[in-house]
Amino acid sequence: MSRSDYPSAHPFLPQEKSLDNLAEAAAGCQGCPLYQDATQVVFGEGHGEADIMLVGEQPGVREDRTGEPFVGPAGKVLDQAIGEAGLHRGDLYITNAVKHFKAETTEDRVNEIKPNVSEITACRPWLEQEMEQVQPEIIVALGAVAARSLIGQAIAIGETLDEWMQTAEGRDLLVTYHPSATLRSIAEADQDRIFDAITAALVRARETVTPTRPGARPQA
Ligand code: SF4
Repeated sequence: MSRSDYPSAHPFLPQEKSLDNLAEAAAGCQGCPLYQDATQVVFGEGHGEADIMLVGEQPGVREDRTGEPFVGPAGKVLDQAIGEAGLHRGDLYITNAVKHFKAETTEDRVNEIKPNVSEITACRPWLEQEMEQVQPEIIVALGAVAARSLIGQAIAIGETLDEWMQTAEGRDLLVTYHPSATLRSIAEADQDRIFDAITAALVRARETVTPTRPGARPQA
């Protein structure tokens, strides 16, 4: 099957839409080639009526094994940023732009590879359905792949950190770095700067959402 033979996720959407039904249907998705080498689909998790939705890029090695989003090293960084921002992970909805792991295996290691535009586009129906079900007030895109999927075009993350943006559907959007960027071999000062930018975006989201809705309760 060539890449152009893959239909996108659309034909795999369930008739009855709920987060549970969507997660179940996504397990059988063959909308792009990524399902072939991944262990399992990694659908979003969290509060079904969250004010704030976090969107990452794709599952990593640990997520591919467990089937849960953000449970590996980048997830630990994200959990720390969520805590420092005065949020609770259980009050948020957390997902990825692409639901299957993409990697290449060499003799001695597995290298994660960023999904390409056709894979990001193919997977977007699942993200659209998650946004429809959760109806978040604010979405925070973590990294370039998430921003590309949500906005519909590539942007330079470092140039838009303080800007309110909108998804292709007109939902309020903040864009920041992916937590894995803090784990790269870069100077400690740069790691700190990236972590602070992620935390600042989460604080801004918390301070902006309507306080009567669930999903943004300040920590006691
Ligand atoms: S990455 Fe997305 S579109 Fe591709 S097979 Fe997986 S769920 Fe379907």
